[in-house]
Amino acid sequence: MAAPWEDVLRDAPALREAAAVAVDAALLEGVLMRTEGQPNASDVVNYAPLTLLPSTVPSALFEQAYAVQQDFNLLVDAISQNKEFLEHTLASTIKVDDFTARLFQIYMQVLEEGLAQSVFLGINRSDYMFDCGVDGTPALKQIEINTIAASFGGLTSRMVAVHRQVLKVLGKSKEASRLLPNNPSQGLALGIAKAWELYGSPSAVVMFLVEEVQRNIFDQRCVENELWNRNIRVIRRRFRDVFEKGSLDDAKRLYMDGQEVAVVYYREGYVPKNYDQQNWEARLLLERSRAVKCPDIATQLAGTKKVQQELSRPGTLERLLPGHGEAVARIRATFAGLYSLDMGEEGDKIAATAVAEPDRFVLKPQREGGGNNLYGEELRQVLEKIRDSPERTSYILMDKIKPQPAINYLLRAHSPLQASACISELGIFGVYIRQGKEMVMNEAAGHLLRTKAIEHADGGVAAGVAVLDTPYLV
Ligand code: ADP
Ligand code: MG
Repeated sequence: MAAPWEDVLRDAPALREAAAVAVDAALLEGVLMRTEGQPNASDVVNYAPLTLLPSTVPSALFEQAYAVQQDFNLLVDAISQNKEFLEHTLASTIKVDDFTARLFQIYMQVLEEGLAQSVFLGINRSDYMFDCGVDGTPALKQIEINTIAASFGGLTSRMVAVHRQVLKVLGKSKEASRLLPNNPSQGLALGIAKAWELYGSPSAVVMFLVEEVQRNIFDQRCVENELWNRNIRVIRRRFRDVFEKGSLDDAKRLYMDGQEVAVVYYREGYVPKNYDQQNWEARLLLERSRAVKCPDIATQLAGTKKVQQELSRPGTLERLLPGHGEAVARIRATFAGLYSLDMGEEGDKIAATAVAEPDRFVLKPQREGGGNNLYGEELRQVLEKIRDSPERTSYILMDKIKPQPAINYLLRAHSPLQASACISELGIFGVYIRQGKEMVMNEAAGHLLRTKAIEHADGGVAAGVAVLDTPYLV
């Protein structure tokens, strides 16, 4: 659908001026990232890549995405408590995928030992694209749900102010006033604060488990500062620090440098490269503890692509959410076609179809963080090679979503200003808390819009492909 600023897209001087305003506003508002050259230094920073203009989003689909978020929270939480489902679903995957197998092994070990944790905090982000049907009508289709380290809730909270100013500079004040407020930083922090409170030890701290390389620190600081504003102490530690200085007492309370930890918020630990032997040991220590892990390892497993694929089988959602017929219908309406590559007739058939028509599909391994999926000719070659071997079961196949492109300008440091045909991905943040068996919080906590040029099949802001954006509802 056309944006109400189509006229300015042809006004090069106005666009150049607006781009300068956008960059300065991003810096002033704190839409920041550390640089590739000095990823661990805050004395050299730049603005995080962003679009010059908001992108239009159909309001009905935007509302649909918000309306289904509490259902997804319930679903993820239900999966995380369902050992039979996780065991059965991941059985073929863990035979061939070492990373998932390692996570699963910790999951089983902690269960066998008996869970010390009684408060569960989930922070997820369900991502969607707007699939353009044959008649041109867009439909909301889920790309995936991120149940660990879902990022950009912080920086996106500061994007509205940037785009408001850009629209004003372009003479679009009325449109500027229509941009929706959005504050996931606060929503995420409220969840962490509530979990901290329920943990029930006022002197305990919240620990952000962070990566060795911390380019996206400002995104995390946005959430962190919201906690400090509520007088909750936050410490930042790496797996390596946990390995060296973390310990459990007799009641499995977690201590770091002598401080009790109430909540562990993972912004790390979702890809194999995050782990060496010591880091796996640190992860096990954290999982065994009584501290609230966000997420616990079961919830991380609930976010694997294999689980996503199994959810799309007829009857699975109904089994996982008995008595929640309407929630099941809302969830299912967002599913694209998902296909198992397990050994057997079903897998043989879909593999053959995908080899013959690779542009209809995306081939996905059990990985997060962007840049792992296979498309087109590459998909065909890889699938051709592994189609008769059990290796194929480490992947799933998904229908390729085809959104309608729109023109925007992607602002990146040291790049010229040029128009690109772009597509967007909408993410909704979910926050929930369960105490024992009782849900005590279940919210949608704001949104994230990321936009990329159509020549990139894969996405991700951290991966350097997508940029931050703001939805303009039409
Ligand atoms: P990751 O865990 O690496 O983020 P995703 O499933 O989110 O994996 O895929 C990464 C990117 O690939 C998405 O942000 C999106 O741009 C693109 N993508 C993923 N699945 C599809 C799909 N079914 N159709 C079109 N593009 C997709
Ligand atoms: Mg993703």
